[in-house]
Amino acid sequence: MNIVLLGAPGAGKGTQAQRLTAEFGMAHISTGDLLRGAIAAGTPLGLEAKSYMDAGALVPDNLVLALIKERLASDDVKNGFILDGYPRNTAQAVTLDSVLAEMGKNLDAALLVAVDPAVIVDRLSRRRACKACGFTGNDTMTVCPRCGGEMYQRDDDKPATIQNRLDTYATKTAPLIEYFKGQDKLLEVDGQGDPDDVYVLVKEALGL
Ligand code: AMP
Repeated sequence: MNIVLLGAPGAGKGTQAQRLTAEFGMAHISTGDLLRGAIAAGTPLGLEAKSYMDAGALVPDNLVLALIKERLASDDVKNGFILDGYPRNTAQAVTLDSVLAEMGKNLDAALLVAVDPAVIVDRLSRRRACKACGFTGNDTMTVCPRCGGEMYQRDDDKPATIQNRLDTYATKTAPLIEYFKGQDKLLEVDGQGDPDDVYVLVKEALGL
């Protein structure tokens, strides 16, 4: 199954994608993780992307496209994929359609994880991630429950950047809801509950 996860930053897309990957083996493709990997590796692409990310803005489409194309060509994508954080604007959605068509692939669904903006601000400011494996947790964790790595607060989860990221989502990414509705691919779950309860809804929506 090939899926796009839609939703504001902090809606729980990464958490739900990690669960789907663990249970069903689809490749989890997070453009945010790919970009953070490029920054950590000090690649030219990473260096260029960093200033946009720190400001809570979108990284230019051509940079993200290079990463996503390479990732979609990997072997593990044969079992299906979950795109988490891509597409992020209408131009990327149009590009994705043609990239997938060239590869003989198709999107089965775009699943919106819907969460109230007030809940999002609270979640983002409490979110912590594992430096080693990318596991997403919260400020009660100093050690990663999955791999024992160090948990840290992403630079863009600091208060000054959160509002910019939410504004970027509202203006650039939220229009994709209509885009996928128009393709008859939009599904929606209420993402406000406990991650375990949301996961039940996610599987129900996807028919898994
Ligand atoms: P995320 O981990 O998905 O919240 O992404 C973190 C940051 O990476 C975003 O705020 C953007 O700056 C950048 N980013 C991630 N995915 C994309 C994308 N598809 N297009 C442009 N920028 C992106």
